Amino acid sequence: AVPEKPNTWRDYTPELEAQLQQKVTLQEALNQAIERQELELYFQPKITLKSEQCLGAEALLRWSHPDLGRIPPDVFIPVAEKTGQIIEIGQWVLDQSCQKLKQWRDQQLVADNFVLAINVASQQLIQSDFAQKCLNTLQRYQLPPSSLEIEVTESGLMTDMVVALEQLCQLAAAGISIAIDDFGTGYSSLAYLKELPVSVLKIDRTFIKDMHVSDQDKKLVETVMQMSENFNFITVAEGVENEEQLEILRGFNCELIQGYYYSPPLTEKALLQYLHAIND
Ligand code: C2E
Ligand code: CA
Ligand code: CA
Ligand code: CA
Repeated sequence: AVPEKPNTWRDYTPELEAQLQQKVTLQEALNQAIERQELELYFQPKITLKSEQCLGAEALLRWSHPDLGRIPPDVFIPVAEKTGQIIEIGQWVLDQSCQKLKQWRDQQLVADNFVLAINVASQQLIQSDFAQKCLNTLQRYQLPPSSLEIEVTESGLMTDMVVALEQLCQLAAAGISIAIDDFGTGYSSLAYLKELPVSVLKIDRTFIKDMHVSDQDKKLVETVMQMSENFNFITVAEGVENEEQLEILRGFNCELIQGYYYSPPLTEKALLQYLHAIND
């Protein structure tokens, strides 16, 4: 039987983790996370800057452990990547995302062109059957490939560029769009951009954050936007929190906005309410 979730959680603190480390390591706790239904997907809307429509969302993992509390993805994803548990977790994210999207489409809660994006870690991407797994899952839920987007980081690609490229080409050929996540934070050269079947660039929040106060950061974003335009990429600005940032991005013709200014990551229920409200 699945234990009942209590309705209050102690928030994760490093102290609390240190306390509990002897009893249960994050790795052991993670082993049971899927089985015990402790994982949940939140969804953050992506909004068009011009018409303020919601064209899609990014699925973001949340983990609530009964003793450890809410553990942020920045803490447990790196652990799962080290241990290889990210493969199983990533498969769960893919399956769960498709399942939700199928329900939303069937109930006409989202438009046919709504795109759900998932984050994919390098270990997933270098599996020789990763693309096939994605396509099988889409097929199982009778979803068109164009309804799914894969977000990969530059460092995720660098692990094994040859295999990653092969998988991405298969995905792109099938109609799944590929986004480069956290663009600008990696150490890779720009040369790889023309090799990859990429259609979306997500400019990292660290550059957006101080854009309205730092001329340097503003110029940096402008440069990335120009390059993105030259390559015919769609640009998403991450972590947009205020009107000033939005106005600067408007001047740069940025297509999509993702950030607290429009919405934080939402539960499924809250996302559907949000979509209902903005579409009215
Ligand atoms: P990310 O892919 O870069 O996701 C964007 C992060 O920025 C999310 O943090 C989101 O909540 C946060 N964010 C969005 N808008 C704003 C804003 O306006 N202001 C601020 N301060 N933050 C904003 P989150 O949900 O904590 O996720 C952190 C990271 O964990 C993600 O970064 C991603 O790298 C990883 N992650 C989350 N879910 C998954 C998953 O299913 N699979 C994998 N492999 N990684 C995941
Ligand atoms: Ca992402
Ligand atoms: Ca990102
Ligand atoms: Ca990021």
